[in-house]
Amino acid sequence: AARAGGRGRVQRYDPGMRAAAEAARELEQELRGALERGEFRLVYQPVVTLADRRVTGFEALLRWASPRLGPVGPDRFVPAAEAAGLIGEIGAWVLREACATAAAWRQAHPGAGDLTMAVNLSAAQLTSAGLVEQISVALAESGLPAGALVLEVTETALVRDPEHAAASLAALRALGVRLALDDFGTGYSSLAHLRQFTVDVLKIDRSFVSTMAEGEPMPAIVRGTIDLGRTLGLEVLAEGIEHEHQARLLAEGRCDSAQGYLFARPLERADAEAVLLEQAACPDAAVPSPRAAGP
Ligand code: C2E
Ligand code: MG
Ligand code: MG
Ligand code: MG
Repeated sequence: AARAGGRGRVQRYDPGMRAAAEAARELEQELRGALERGEFRLVYQPVVTLADRRVTGFEALLRWASPRLGPVGPDRFVPAAEAAGLIGEIGAWVLREACATAAAWRQAHPGAGDLTMAVNLSAAQLTSAGLVEQISVALAESGLPAGALVLEVTETALVRDPEHAAASLAALRALGVRLALDDFGTGYSSLAHLRQFTVDVLKIDRSFVSTMAEGEPMPAIVRGTIDLGRTLGLEVLAEGIEHEHQARLLAEGRCDSAQGYLFARPLERADAEAVLLEQAACPDAAVPSPRAAGP
């Protein structure tokens, strides 16, 4: 990422850089007011148990349909929202919306009484002063029990300001919410983090799952991560399962749960709710057929 050098330095400005800066400015401009204009929505990806493939919860994933830019992915707009100082209010909306949805589903669907809802937190959110208050409000307004909410943080976010982050996590745990370490293994992974930052769930990153080839034994890193998590008493969840052989091998390896296109893509709210209805209708069946929806 080309960034302008310090002031007074000679800086060659090539057209590619100018175009990138222009695009970033446009993105930020469009992000301002996007919340008020109702351009955000959440989609929900099922989390399933690997042993019997039942949906036990969902991860809320943010989507933005900009009338001018079209659909922009969270990998692009979340960092932009952080840089523009907008992630606080957007994140608060995500928390309220996700908690309200989970509370409604738990009430409406027999058998969904223990459903969990996971929400992603960015680095800036994690160390912002208002976070605990935002979460308390989202829980109180929705009536969702704290234990049903899972907050996902990445190692990268934690190490940006480790002391502050550790304090935030402790405050969140005191509320009774669960914590998940997202994209585990891709950041500055260190065993010391697992001690410094107490979490409940390890999410094995999809890049490791994708190394699981058909007909081959479990890659040592995946094996080791599952064992590490289990030894520490954590729930181990594998992300990005796309193939049946991966699900089977992970189940044999005693990985607890999974998400991935094999089971379901992130679903629009009504489609996610339909999964719960189908599951209630056939209590013994595994996850209903995979559904097509946007990524
Ligand atoms: P993440 O939390 O690690 O989410 C997993 C990403 O992998 C999602 O991308 C999901 O759609 C995608 N995915 C799930 N299963 C599969 C699969 O089987 N194969 C493949 N190739 N991909 C799969 P998405 O929705 O684009 O989100 C990207 C990232 O943006 C998330 O990574 C998360 O870090 C961030 N993000 C999403 N929503 C929010 C939010 O509400 N707030 C914050 N702060 N960050 C968010
Ligand atoms: Mg996540
Ligand atoms: Mg992840
Ligand atoms: Mg990710």
